[in-house]
Amino acid sequence: MSIEFGVDYYPEHWDRSRWETDARLMQALGVDVVRMGEFSWFKFEPERGAFDFSWLDEAIGLLARHGIKTIVGTPTAAPPKWLIDQDKSILPVDAEGITRGFGGRHHDCQSNAKYRGHCKRIVSVMAEHFRDNRAVIGWQVDNELGNSHDNLCTCDSCRSSFHAWLEKRYGTIGELNEVWGTNFWSQNYTAFSQIPVPRITPNSHNPSLLLDWKRFCSDLIVDFARAQIDILREKCPDQFITHNLMGFSEKVNYYDLGKGLDFVSHDQYPMGYWMSAAEKTPAALASTLDLIRAMKRKNFWIMEQQAGPAGWETLGQTPRPGQLGLWTAQSVAHGADTVVFFRWRTCTFGTEEFWHGILPHDGTPGRRYEELLKVIERLRPVMQDIKGICAKNDIAIVYDYDQYWALRIQPQHPKLSYVSSIQQYYEAFYRRNIPTDFLNPNDEFSGYKAIVAPLQFVLGPGMELKLRTYVSEGGVLVLTMRSGVKTETNKCRTDGSLPCGLVDMLGIEVLDYDCLRDADIPIVWGKGSDPALRVSGCWWSDIVTPHEGTQVLATYGEEFYRGTPAVTAHRYGKGMAYYVATQPSPALMRLIADHVTASAGLKRLVDTDESVEAVRRVGESAEYLIVMNHDGAAHDIHVPASWNHLLDETGSKIAPYGFMVFRKEKTPV
Ligand SMILES: [Zn+2]
Repeated sequence: MSIEFGVDYYPEHWDRSRWETDARLMQALGVDVVRMGEFSWFKFEPERGAFDFSWLDEAIGLLARHGIKTIVGTPTAAPPKWLIDQDKSILPVDAEGITRGFGGRHHDCQSNAKYRGHCKRIVSVMAEHFRDNRAVIGWQVDNELGNSHDNLCTCDSCRSSFHAWLEKRYGTIGELNEVWGTNFWSQNYTAFSQIPVPRITPNSHNPSLLLDWKRFCSDLIVDFARAQIDILREKCPDQFITHNLMGFSEKVNYYDLGKGLDFVSHDQYPMGYWMSAAEKTPAALASTLDLIRAMKRKNFWIMEQQAGPAGWETLGQTPRPGQLGLWTAQSVAHGADTVVFFRWRTCTFGTEEFWHGILPHDGTPGRRYEELLKVIERLRPVMQDIKGICAKNDIAIVYDYDQYWALRIQPQHPKLSYVSSIQQYYEAFYRRNIPTDFLNPNDEFSGYKAIVAPLQFVLGPGMELKLRTYVSEGGVLVLTMRSGVKTETNKCRTDGSLPCGLVDMLGIEVLDYDCLRDADIPIVWGKGSDPALRVSGCWWSDIVTPHEGTQVLATYGEEFYRGTPAVTAHRYGKGMAYYVATQPSPALMRLIADHVTASAGLKRLVDTDESVEAVRRVGESAEYLIVMNHDGAAHDIHVPASWNHLLDETGSKIAPYGFMVFRKEKTPV
């Protein structure tokens, strides 16, 4: 059975007399799968050791009779009150040393041995109970790991675990003192047991301690998931294991978390009530999906696709007519093999009672149900043909958790954001309809014609060699300001001019720099004869001395470093290394992207208006062009005649928030 669409369903929130109606409506909608149970620990185990899965067995059976399979969630994101009351040491402790209380979710410490024991018990019993149920096709471990944890737990258990982690990493306390630079402010330690967790202090903590704390917390969460994955792997070899990620969330290194999973899933909320305007642009949404595809370099599931206005205490906007379909098409276009909508019906109680599902509070199908009915019908044949076939693009942007964390600790400029920097680079190529991958810094680079690696702030010898080899063998590489600044233990490098280790490859030196606190810096592209070539940068100016033979593409237009290079290109071996000395404005980004596109021979997919996105997917039997209008007005599109409309679509006008699918027979390779 092929699984393309699903819903997140909470049968325990509704009277049993309603379940049959829900199953019938789901079947009519085209639902193939439901996810259930991920917050239902109390319903499974109302008191210690007294398990009851009968209600879920009944729901699974009823749905199966309507052709609907089940993914079971392990309920470890919501430990019940009786469990916490038995041992309050399970509760997490925040940075102020205050114990957080029961009442939200994930009111737990993930290093706590007693909590680990409870998790092992419930997951083992569930695995044994559901493994032979043929309607259960897979597992979701926990829910959105890293969410609901603030800055993670600073309890005694976590402190001891941190000490063990540090001892394993550095061996001796002398080595730790050296690589952290603890001579500063008399922070020298004589034993690992003295090292603090980052609770609040009168001033900032040592940046080396903070970076290792972030690495440790990520490893702890990965290990917490791993303990459940190991049980499920052993007991349920015929069922898949996944987890729902949260895009650019910083808490967990998703590359590491993804290693233990069969595939990753992601929760996509294009109109999340917590999101800034910049996080909700079509390009930012596309970048999130492309990022998820990078985690295992393969296709993924959407485990929660927004199905209505979302909110807790406050709400986000209501999806406009067409937007639910548009967002679903965008997820599919960027690599979702299955889309599960959150949630089936809007709950009438609890924190998420205004997090709207497909059905409203009263359970009567309305606009959202009718829209998704058509969307599912249109997208299913495309999804069946492209299932499992991963897009492979010519350009990639390196996404590196070390840079993310180190720049969170020391952002250099108060507004500098690692994620928004890389999303701005992504957007420059996105707007040209040049499809872009994200790249794990540990993955192979050589398959790409061009790589953009913004803000390589922390740079060790391994990455240095990798970048150098990539360019010398013919790659086109874009590096930026604040690269080669720090060691892998987050101390400043001293082994030459900035960008340390890359001066000869880039053909430049940075001997001075300027944090742009009060104003952006004007920049002149080329000779700047056309006003369109007068652009700007923000956050930072590296003051660059070019070496002989280095091409200067743009210069600063003001300040004491007026006329010095802002963007350079340097031939190195068989390739080309660009250096961008500031955070470019959108206009400067476009000029850089055009130069890199020409230099690397990248190809645009099709020409579209700026608000219209086009993504090509190659299937088993055909190629597809998915064209999406992110604007509230209709747009003309100009798709070459070789592409045929799929289904009953006609014309060259795309509706507000509409999407169209074009097909052509697969070109023989
Ligand atoms: Zn803890």
